[in-house]
Amino acid sequence: MSVVGIDFGNLQTIIAVARNRGIDVICNEVSNRFTPSLVSFGPKQRYLGETAKTQEISNFKNTVSSLKRIIGRTFADKEVQEIEKQYLTAPLVDVNGQLAVKVNYQGQETTFTIIQLFAMYLTKMKEIATNETKLPVSDCVIAIPSWFTDVQRRAVLDASEIAGLNVLRLINDSTATALGYGITKTDLPEDKPRNICFVDIGHSTYTVTIVAFIKGQLTVKSRAFDRHFGGRDFDRMLVDHFAAEFKTKYGIDVKSNGKALIRLMAGCEKLKKILSANSQAPLNIESIMEDRDVSSMMKRSEFEELAKDLISRVEAPIKQALEDAGMTIEEIDAVEMVGGSIRIPSLKERIQAYFGKDLSSTLNQDEAVARGAALQCAILSPSFKVRDFTVQDITSYPIKITWQPTPEEEETELVVFNKNNSTPSTKILTFYRSQPFDLEAHYAEPEKIPSGINPWIARFSIKNVEPINGEPACIKVKARINIHGVLSVESAYIVEEVLKEEPVEAPKADAAEGEEAAAPETRKVKKLVKKGDLPVVSATSSLDRSVLAELKEKEMEMIASDKLVVDTEMAKNALEEYIYDTRSKVDSVYKDFINPADKEKFVADLNDAENWLYEEGEETTKSVYVAKLADLHVVGKPIIERYREVEARANAARELRESI
Ligand code: ATP
Ligand code: MG
Repeated sequence: MSVVGIDFGNLQTIIAVARNRGIDVICNEVSNRFTPSLVSFGPKQRYLGETAKTQEISNFKNTVSSLKRIIGRTFADKEVQEIEKQYLTAPLVDVNGQLAVKVNYQGQETTFTIIQLFAMYLTKMKEIATNETKLPVSDCVIAIPSWFTDVQRRAVLDASEIAGLNVLRLINDSTATALGYGITKTDLPEDKPRNICFVDIGHSTYTVTIVAFIKGQLTVKSRAFDRHFGGRDFDRMLVDHFAAEFKTKYGIDVKSNGKALIRLMAGCEKLKKILSANSQAPLNIESIMEDRDVSSMMKRSEFEELAKDLISRVEAPIKQALEDAGMTIEEIDAVEMVGGSIRIPSLKERIQAYFGKDLSSTLNQDEAVARGAALQCAILSPSFKVRDFTVQDITSYPIKITWQPTPEEEETELVVFNKNNSTPSTKILTFYRSQPFDLEAHYAEPEKIPSGINPWIARFSIKNVEPINGEPACIKVKARINIHGVLSVESAYIVEEVLKEEPVEAPKADAAEGEEAAAPETRKVKKLVKKGDLPVVSATSSLDRSVLAELKEKEMEMIASDKLVVDTEMAKNALEEYIYDTRSKVDSVYKDFINPADKEKFVADLNDAENWLYEEGEETTKSVYVAKLADLHVVGKPIIERYREVEARANAARELRESI
């Protein structure tokens, strides 16, 4: 069984596997170390990853990007409508409150929820990993942004289940980076921790994390982010600039044309990358729209001027993280940079100036997250032996639990997990109740979570509660933020006060020598004793088991259908190849092995088959292609076998001659 880590990036995804000799990043079917995070649909099949990318422009209405930004969101979510929609090209729709897309799949208008799309993409990641490792893939660790809320985390877990993946941990991406850093450092201190500040600026998001390392352990001290800050913001800024320029220069409105806008976005990203290493860069797009070619250029200084406001946003999260960790810049031993956008020189300079020290890049900036996730998978997987490394993470948002008070109670809520509470973590709450009751969990500071997400997390109903001897029962409820960063109530139970006899330790000095030892004294003390579990019914944002089972089945059907399309294409190619190859040889290498009458018929059959392929055989089923090839084999096979036999004999004779 493979041990896999997945960095599901907003732009591109990286998969790493743990092997005995270390961690390897896996190449996909076109030998790339990252796979575009895209899902698209065609008349016959789905296109996942690279194949979706190749037709992104021609098939943009049926192509979905930004999956990580929109998973766990609703259609009405303000951030989806105001921000994410700008980057999405497939139409968004509402399915019973869930966000979904409407695409044309197999010739029919079809709706898929984002969880389904996320699952489809994970299916592809699983296939890439299986092809490379030649082992089944199930156990994995998936890296997600540390700012994901409960609903987003549960959605990723649901998608993983649909894709048949067993997630050992949803790891916060910056924690994965930190783990990769810590496990490879052999010189970590025993006591006084080494404090590292990790800065990750990717395609859509920016995270600053301060981590304290000692030998064999990392503790996340604080974390701050700008959820809407990354490479795509620079691209959009350039798009705005050039769209305005082209309006006056060429009289075209690129933003009014979906295809033209995607091409301009791609052109701007390229220009941005060139500017990271050069002082100026060109922008040329042929026939962008209305048969117009456009061209322009930009100097790095101009880029920096345009990006001034964006770049100035880089400081706030660093300041916040330092403040939350209660550290000064001097207490930070090193600043480690990861993420693709860190290549923008002015961003790097700004961060360097803030810290007043050189930035380190001892990690592979593109692969650090995936490598860390694979390491975490290796640590958690029973099928793998690796040096243990303790990971102490923290929550990003405080969580409160509310309840209906009894007449004796004043409190109606309690912040059970504070911001930066360590995770995983369990808290035990005590209630006195005579009847079943509900607990509701919410984010305690709704303004801190992504603005369109509902702060409600879950309802936990504690059942079978009854008074004990006419008095309210004392009930303990175990609330836990688990290894995925998801809140659950694991159990609830009744405790009872019982009087227990306990020996009292007699003061030794009193026992005079030679006296007979007195019987040990005892006293009665009140003790809390667990009296039995209570059933807990949880209502969370996770999908019901029955829905999950149905979606899993649908996914399997789509996998089978995609496979059939590929197999059909292969069967057709095999037939085509046989026709051309055999026909080209009947007058040459096969000439002596076929009698002239048979030859005429055979060539006619081959020609017929070729014509058939261009007509009704252009589009048919796998079994028909296979049957057609089998028909040709009836005549062809004996000829080819006779030829091969003679060839083999001649070769053997030659080898014998040469060996004498
Ligand atoms: P996220 O972490 O936000 O989900 P991601 O992991 O897919 O996204 P990365 O792979 O870390 O993102 O970074 C991709 C971003 O880095 C893109 O916006 C890309 O344009 C940018 N980028 C890559 N190379 C360069 C470069 N040489 N100069 C400037 N930007 C670059
Ligand atoms: Mg990333």
